[in-house]
Amino acid sequence: MNLLRPADLIDHVQQITPEFLAARGLRGLLLDLDNTLIPYRSYQENTEVVRWAHDLQDAGIRLYLLSNATGKRADFWLSRLAFAGVGMAGKPHPRAFQRGARELGLPPEQVGMVGDQVFTDVLGGNLAGLHTILVRPLADNGLPHTRAARLLERQVLGRYGHRWPH
Ligand SMILES: [Mg+2]
Repeated sequence: MNLLRPADLIDHVQQITPEFLAARGLRGLLLDLDNTLIPYRSYQENTEVVRWAHDLQDAGIRLYLLSNATGKRADFWLSRLAFAGVGMAGKPHPRAFQRGARELGLPPEQVGMVGDQVFTDVLGGNLAGLHTILVRPLADNGLPHTRAARLLERQVLGRYGHRWPH
């Protein structure tokens, strides 16, 4: 098994619809926050993402935020997104993802992990037996270690024949 390989590669979370999930046998999602739902560091309201999350929940999809951001930042967004979750989740440790799946009340094979980082979201999600969905990062956070990780990510994805269209 290729632990760094995402099951799906998408441009933005709004591409995930109830039909997309049904086709993959998924009933719930663990969602990364920074650069997946909201640009890194942003506190700007994003009605599109909030509406997308509401629509999925209306369709019976269970959502849970699994973020490594500070508890304070995670709480700010949780109050707006209107679903449960945690900050300081401890990704990529598989235990964080297993706990998330338990919170959703679903077996791992029915849970999608949606995130923008190969070495955090995809690696940990795959180790926990989840269906991993890599989303193109919303913004460049400018941190040197992230820039290095992005370079490695491109190489890993290139090896699987994946390339972001730009
Ligand atoms: Mg992220």
